[in-house]
Amino acid sequence: MNKFEILKKYWGYDSFRPLQEEAIESILQGRDAITVLPTGGGKSLCFQVPAMALDGVTLVVSPLISLMKDQVDALNDCGIFAARLDSSLSYEDQQEVFQQIYKQELKLLYLAPERLLSDRFLETLSNINISFIAIDEAHCVSIWGHDFRPEYRQLGQLRKLFPDIPIGAYTATATEQVRDDIAQQLKLKDPNMLIGSFDRPNLIYKVQSRKTVISQVMEVLERHPNESGVIYCIRRKDVESLCKQLKKNGIKAAPYHAGMADEKRKKHQDQFIKEKVDVIVATIAFGMGIDKSNVRFIIHTGMPKSLEHYQQESGRAGRDGLEAECTLLFGGGDYGIWKSFMNELGDKAKDIAMEKLNSIYQFCNSGQCKHQAILKYFGQELDKDNCQACDVCLGEVETINDSLTISQKILSCIIRLDQQFGASYTAMVLVGSKDKRIMEYQHDLLSTYGLLSDYPKQTVHDWTEQLVSQGYIKKVGEYNILFLTETGVEVLKGNQTPKLLKPKEKSKERKVSKIAAASWENVDKDLFDILRKHRANLASEKNVPPFIIFADTSLRDMARLKPTTKKEFLQVHGVGEKKCQQYGKEMLEAIKEYIS
Ligand code: ADP
Repeated sequence: MNKFEILKKYWGYDSFRPLQEEAIESILQGRDAITVLPTGGGKSLCFQVPAMALDGVTLVVSPLISLMKDQVDALNDCGIFAARLDSSLSYEDQQEVFQQIYKQELKLLYLAPERLLSDRFLETLSNINISFIAIDEAHCVSIWGHDFRPEYRQLGQLRKLFPDIPIGAYTATATEQVRDDIAQQLKLKDPNMLIGSFDRPNLIYKVQSRKTVISQVMEVLERHPNESGVIYCIRRKDVESLCKQLKKNGIKAAPYHAGMADEKRKKHQDQFIKEKVDVIVATIAFGMGIDKSNVRFIIHTGMPKSLEHYQQESGRAGRDGLEAECTLLFGGGDYGIWKSFMNELGDKAKDIAMEKLNSIYQFCNSGQCKHQAILKYFGQELDKDNCQACDVCLGEVETINDSLTISQKILSCIIRLDQQFGASYTAMVLVGSKDKRIMEYQHDLLSTYGLLSDYPKQTVHDWTEQLVSQGYIKKVGEYNILFLTETGVEVLKGNQTPKLLKPKEKSKERKVSKIAAASWENVDKDLFDILRKHRANLASEKNVPPFIIFADTSLRDMARLKPTTKKEFLQVHGVGEKKCQQYGKEMLEAIKEYIS
């Protein structure tokens, strides 16, 4: 079978995604390769397809048991003979896998690196035919990556142990430093470097200034009834209180943070993956090893400390390629919290951390396209002017016409206050507050007092933060006192014009992004909901997560094509022979009943 036939027969897909073919070809031709694709880009197929095309077994090195388990379950469900060897298996189960290895029945074998390199296991391997070795999450070999694992370092021995077997390394980590380190540490021979675009066009980014968290969160949830999503909070106590509020509002939610007992955390994670609850409210402790493909929204209730963190956390949405919403709520206070944590760092580490913090703060406040801003940060360019998938490009935020005059008012107020106060106090003076402190200091007598009294205090505060992030003001010292920078002085002279944002009033006719419109085109939503229930039943019977049975893309395609025969069912995106055989009957009956 060639690679296209394999793709159709087992996965039910008609075409490859960008770089998949090149990555597969490289292995088929016996050449080492490093494949870098973003989360959801389809890295697994890059090694699973050649595994099916070549003779022998493919060894897949993976860092986490949960990842191995999901991949093996998904492969088995497509009719592919795959297994894993890890410490969570019973002795008997491990013996059974060894039998399968000896009989040379397996096409893919998933292992942790330390197992692969154990003497006993290497001896077992000496008698069997290995097609190639795939190193998943390959950034774990690099100390420059975000998840260095010392066990991965030992994988450098593989090249010597298996000089003639191609090695493929796969990662989503973008930096050049990490890529080069992977090649070097694994001692790859002239590896084919296949680097994809890091853009995730199906993620719709929205950044809002934080007002009332629960109502802002509910506004997002209303757009995603019964769908899966993750809400990140900076602090554990916020996780607990937000989760309680959501439950009161009738949302099926569960909390997750490192302060909870292991058992409870596991239970909540499982409930989320198996879709017994829709929403998980968590600290960043949640997410590693979760490859649930149909997470439809991620909300951050506070600003993460870097764009790397933001990309990783928001990246857990929409792995199936369907539209997903990533909303970030932020406030100037978040900047202060992270900054105060950094006091414990050494000088050099503190400088790096501050630079990262400033970058994400700027991301939050600038009126730039979000896809463009993220890509630029990672050293790539977006190939279009309008991404159609962020609040700026969807026209949900407007810049105000009199940015220059308003900026000048704010900046001169800072000067009038002798550059001795923070953003909140400055905003109060500008809106003409009767606050006790203002009266005591007699700041109501300043010429800038009440100059922006037409606007709410929060809006003036937001503009001030935008001026900070655009570099016209800097915050100094423990109390974040506002100071004008050189470019700030230029604004006062009228030589530079900042861009101030005006959030649009909540409008009923929110523009639907193109990607959302296309993926729901001609989909019968009522039928989709019925099919979801059937998927949940099948998943429950098999005790696997629903997305292992069918991805959301497949369900939408079924609710679009409404097949009534097995032949038509095989035309559905993501339905291969085995899926048709296993689930065709139940799904077809449900469709027939619906349309009759
Ligand atoms: P990654 O490991 O890069 O995050 P996955 O390998 O988990 O991504 O793939 C993400 C999703 O995309 C999976 O549901 C997978 O089945 C699907 N997918 C991969 N390749 C294709 C393809 N060529 N056509 C359609 N869907 C694909």
